Amino acid sequence: SGIVTILARALREETLSPGEIGALLAAGPRDRPALFAAADEMRRRHVGDDVHLRGIIEFSNYCRNNCLYCGLRRENRRVKRYRMEPVEITDAARQAVNMGFKTIVLQSGEDPYYNGDVLARIVSEIKELDAAVTLSVGDRRREEYELWRRAGADRYLLKHETADPELFARLRPGTTLSQRLKRLYWLRELGYQVGSGNMVGLPGQTTEILAADLLLLKELDVEMAGIGPFIPHPETPLGKCPPGDWQLSLKVLAVARLLLPKAHLPATTALGTVHPRGREMGLKCGANVVMPDATPLQYRAHYQIYPGKAGLEADTRRILAELHKMIHSLGRRVAADYGHTPKWENII
Ligand code: SAM
Ligand code: SF4
Repeated sequence: SGIVTILARALREETLSPGEIGALLAAGPRDRPALFAAADEMRRRHVGDDVHLRGIIEFSNYCRNNCLYCGLRRENRRVKRYRMEPVEITDAARQAVNMGFKTIVLQSGEDPYYNGDVLARIVSEIKELDAAVTLSVGDRRREEYELWRRAGADRYLLKHETADPELFARLRPGTTLSQRLKRLYWLRELGYQVGSGNMVGLPGQTTEILAADLLLLKELDVEMAGIGPFIPHPETPLGKCPPGDWQLSLKVLAVARLLLPKAHLPATTALGTVHPRGREMGLKCGANVVMPDATPLQYRAHYQIYPGKAGLEADTRRILAELHKMIHSLGRRVAADYGHTPKWENII
């Protein structure tokens, strides 16, 4: 069929057209296994069998933004808001590093309480622990990104969320896609390893928009891409919308691997939330990263981006032990290095 031809071209690493990408995204139950196998082959060829574990610390759930999809949006009054003190954040990071994490991801709502200097100090303290640091704190000033990079931050995760400018503006009131992209270019100029990504199954999203998401990630030449299903949160304007489909999410992930052979692609928590074996399936469809929650237990339940978030109860050590088992059962191994982008391996 057409799909077989497209997959053969993808495996020869030829450039796919938007139409071909659309055809892959539309793959039905008969063609899906071939798509997933091709993505798995590409993953093995370019990033190997290592799975990188990134410990994520969600240090504040205050947010000045009002994204229609997110449970942390400022108009959601039902959230118990918390801010971790800098020393709590570095303590949590130290514990995570002691458990074996080689990357600490600091994520929060858009919370100006952590100004440039405060966050820079936190970053440099965590860098002393011998770990890579990823920041994911949203839209900020270029000077702040620069300060944090100087403080040692290695990577920045800023998802473009959707490549459709109208949908973007509707879902993220007061912000635009072009502002978001401008920031992604700043981050690149400042020498960050850049992560972006999008949600799958947003209301109003079409296959063409998903193809545009993937082409945008390719154009940005991202070092990482977080791709996961949209999950409705009842206390948001999108609360009654259907969740993103896990099979479609796996297809988008698989095509991302074909287009971005050397990118780090997480099997996202959202994927693990819409399907109990979501993360495992993600790792077999192109993913090579998992980001377990390393937030102190007392705060974890309040970082409710969407309901039912996987890994809420169990302590991090327990989650890690289970992940190690799952990864080994797939014939893969937990990476021992920092997991910087493999794009840099041949440069020096
Ligand atoms: N505030 C920062 C930002 O927006 O970039 C970082 C934290 S934000 C909670 C992290 C990610 O959560 C977003 O990039 C978005 O893709 C995801 N997210 C938010 N609401 C979601 C939902 N309802 N379903 C799935 N993912 C969601
Ligand atoms: Fe705030 Fe990020 Fe949620 Fe938007 S997605 S409301 S910026 S935490």
